[in-house]
Amino acid sequence: MIKKVREKSIRLLTMEAGGRRVDKNHPVYAQIERELGRQTAGYKGECALDYYLTFIPDDKYFIFHGLRLEDPKNRYFQMDSYLFSLSHGLILESKYISGELEFDEKSNQLIRKVADGHESMGDPISQVERHKDQMRSWMEKYLGKVVPIIGQVVLTNKNAILKNVSPSTMKKVTFLTNLPIRIKAIHENLPNPILTEKELRKATRILNQKHTPDQFAFLDFFKLTHNEIITGVICAECSLSPMLRKSAKWICLKCGCKSKNAHIEALEDYALLCGKSITNKQAKEFLHLSSSSVTFQILQSMNLRHTGTKKGRVYFLN
Ligand SMILES: [Zn+2]
Repeated sequence: MIKKVREKSIRLLTMEAGGRRVDKNHPVYAQIERELGRQTAGYKGECALDYYLTFIPDDKYFIFHGLRLEDPKNRYFQMDSYLFSLSHGLILESKYISGELEFDEKSNQLIRKVADGHESMGDPISQVERHKDQMRSWMEKYLGKVVPIIGQVVLTNKNAILKNVSPSTMKKVTFLTNLPIRIKAIHENLPNPILTEKELRKATRILNQKHTPDQFAFLDFFKLTHNEIITGVICAECSLSPMLRKSAKWICLKCGCKSKNAHIEALEDYALLCGKSITNKQAKEFLHLSSSSVTFQILQSMNLRHTGTKKGRVYFLN
């Protein structure tokens, strides 16, 4: 049973906004495109994982996608999927990597063979081991019980081939297609309940409450300034910016497309790229509006939390 649905991460949403709102000729654009590609591939792998999780019986696990929690030592950690039953927790870490892969147990690296040698892809097994420790102490803190936590690295790209894999690694890694069978085996190995139904429901509530979405400071990360962000409402049909505001509608001068609410997406981009607060003056400039009163009407219609009055009013874009 799914208790937290998967959403795109703030980092992926930010990269998508960056791809729309940084000029393709800007020196930093290639770097944004690379990061966008990496994030999109990761998300694709996670969504593939979700499909195979539909094959496990609905009553066995509560499923949380993309949980990001703070452990008792104030360190944040994010799990691609967390499956939770009366007897244990199961962390799944999706790796969407194609090609010939080898887990080197001596150096603790995942190595991919490339045309001119080898490329290190980090170490997902150690990452899962860290998350297991963090989750164990999280459970102890909020439930007062020691719950066994299991971890699995899931290779989600169907063009991945594992080479020289040892039996001990194979216990920690699985291919996506084998995931339902692996989960069944794990479940059968841990038949004794540690938690009551009531405790499981309580834990579910706390897990959802304590989930903290990630943050990403786009301008700082790419060393960009506000002036380098393309402003205006972008047409959803033909990508032209800016659309014009006329008679309470946004109109695209190129394709003739009309929209009532296209400013919402533009302000979402502003929140992701430039910051979560905006004044009337900043919104007027960003949306290419000619009057402060139209800007005021638009911001008011969005029911945004705000502080201050008149010219000093700041709206929060959450
Ligand atoms: Zn258009």
